[in-house]
Amino acid sequence: MALENQLSAARQFCMISPMRSPIYFIAAAASEGLPRLCGKLERLIAASRVLDLVSAGDSVAVKLHFGEAGNTGYVRPELLRVIASSLKARQAKPFLADTNTLYQGRRQESGEHLKLAREHGFTPEAVGAEVVIPDDTKPENAVAVDVSGRFIKTAKVAGLFAQADAFVGVAHFKGHLMTGFGGALKNVGMGCATREGKLAQHSDVSPSIDVKECVGCGQCVAACSAQAISLRADKAVIDAALCVGCAQCLAACPSSAIEVRWEQGGNVIQEKMVEYTRAILAAKKGKAAFFNFCLKVTAECDCLAKDDPCIAPDVGILAGADPVALDQACHDLVLRAAGRDVFKAAHPKRDGAKQLAHAEELGLGRRDYELITVSQ
Ligand code: SF4
Ligand code: SF4
Repeated sequence: MALENQLSAARQFCMISPMRSPIYFIAAAASEGLPRLCGKLERLIAASRVLDLVSAGDSVAVKLHFGEAGNTGYVRPELLRVIASSLKARQAKPFLADTNTLYQGRRQESGEHLKLAREHGFTPEAVGAEVVIPDDTKPENAVAVDVSGRFIKTAKVAGLFAQADAFVGVAHFKGHLMTGFGGALKNVGMGCATREGKLAQHSDVSPSIDVKECVGCGQCVAACSAQAISLRADKAVIDAALCVGCAQCLAACPSSAIEVRWEQGGNVIQEKMVEYTRAILAAKKGKAAFFNFCLKVTAECDCLAKDDPCIAPDVGILAGADPVALDQACHDLVLRAAGRDVFKAAHPKRDGAKQLAHAEELGLGRRDYELITVSQ
C-alpha cells in the first residue's frame, strides 16, 4: 500500500485529526507522595477529557501491570482508584485486568497472580472496581482476532479485553530488555495476549550462550521455566526447540553470557507486539484512552522481581487517545530529562523506535504529537 494510503487508513482507523495528536502532560515526581499525585491525575483527567470517550453502561477494561513480587515500579492502586472513580462518575463499569506471564514467577498462574495483586493493594475495595485475571487454562477465555499483519495473521488475546465496550491502558513507562522501552503499545500488545499469543510474539527470539563468558553457575537453568537449558561440561546449553523466548535467562545470568540474536529476531518481536496491539484496538475505535506514568523510570519492566534503580529523573503523567504519540512523547521527555538516551544505554542492541514506526504504519496513531501541559 502506498504511504499516503496507509496514512489515510491510519487517520480513518484512529479517528484522530490529520494534525498532530494531542498528548496531555502534568509534571510530577514520585517523591511528592500519593495524595498529591492523585490530585495531579485528577487534574490531568479533567483537562484532557480523555475519559469522556466512555458512555453510560459501558464495560471498560482497565489494563495494567500489577507488578511482580518484589517489584516497586508498578502504578499504585491509589492512582487506579482515581481512574476507576472517573469512569464510574461517567456511569461506566470499569474493571482492572491483566494476563498471566510466559516466564516463571507469581504472575504465571491466575490464582497466585490475583493473590499477588491483592498483596500489592489492588483489592476491589481499594481501587473501587473488580480485579480480574482470566484463567488462561480455559479456552473459552481466549478469542482469535484476524489481524492480517506482516507477521501475525491471527492474534490470540484474552477475551475480556476484546469484549469490553471501551479500553483504558495504564502503563508504567520504562526500559525493556526485549523492546528497548515499554509503554502504552507494549501494555496492550503483549499485555492483552494469551500465553499462546505471548509465545507467538517471542518465538523468533531464541538466545544463545557465549561459552567464553559462561562460568557454569547454573543460574540460567534455575530461571528457565521451559527447562530449555542444561549444563554440559560446566557450560550452559540451550535447546532451541524447547525455548519459548521469555528472556528470563538473560536477566538471571551474572556473567552476561547469554545473548539474544537481535538481528534476526530483536525487531520482529516489536513488530509482532504492535500487530497484537492492533488486534485489541481495532475493535475500540474512538473508545480507547491511555495513561503513561513516567515516574521511577527503570531499565527493566515491572516483571523484574526486585527494586530496579531509576535510570532517569521523574517526568510526570501523560495521557492521550493515540498510543503511538503517547509513547513517543514519553520517550522524548525521558531522554530530555536524563540528558542522554538512557534506553539505548541500558539496551544497546535494541531500537525501541521500531515499535513506534510499525505502529504508525499499521494506523495505530502517529509519532507527531502536540504536547499540552496541564497546570500544576
Ligand atoms: S532459554 Fe531463556 S529465553 Fe528460552 S525459555 Fe529458557 S529462560 Fe526463556
Ligand atoms: S547463568 Fe550465565 S554464567 Fe551461569 S551457567 Fe547460565 S550462561 Fe553460564
